[in-house]
Amino acid sequence: MSNEYCEVRSSSIHGRGVFATRDIPASIRIVEYLGERVSKEEGAARGERQLERARESDEPAVLIIDLSDEWDLDGRVPNNLAAILNHSCDPNCTMWNEENRIWIYSARDIERGEELTFDYGFDIADYKDYPCRCGAKKCIGYMVSREYWPALWVQIAIDRAKKEKG
Ligand SMILES: [Zn+2]
Repeated sequence: MSNEYCEVRSSSIHGRGVFATRDIPASIRIVEYLGERVSKEEGAARGERQLERARESDEPAVLIIDLSDEWDLDGRVPNNLAAILNHSCDPNCTMWNEENRIWIYSARDIERGEELTFDYGFDIADYKDYPCRCGAKKCIGYMVSREYWPALWVQIAIDRAKKEKG
């Protein structure tokens, strides 16, 4: 799978990843995140099922994207290049909603050969189920969105204290 900017290759972060096949300047619309538009209710139900499957296998986790107050997007569709991007604690791409279509943009200048990554936006619920192997210098060790890092530090400290107490 590929487009004019990138292609799928095996990744050291996790399974397969998407890599730049040319230099990409910042703020370029690289690829659309494709999917099936579903109701919020259907999106929540599918999200639960995807989470169960992800726990049992090595499949990519939940591919339900929040589209609007009314709609979710289920990214589990064929040839969804954007769904193969890995999460990183120091991502070079960002996800952007433009009139209910989701795009992956370059967040900075990207060199040919770099793996493309974005912040999956996960909160700290079940954080231990999602270890992060992004390799960034400031990797926090779990696939948790940067906006939740302060909460995560507190949670890790609480969990560690619980463990020491036995
Ligand atoms: Zn990381």
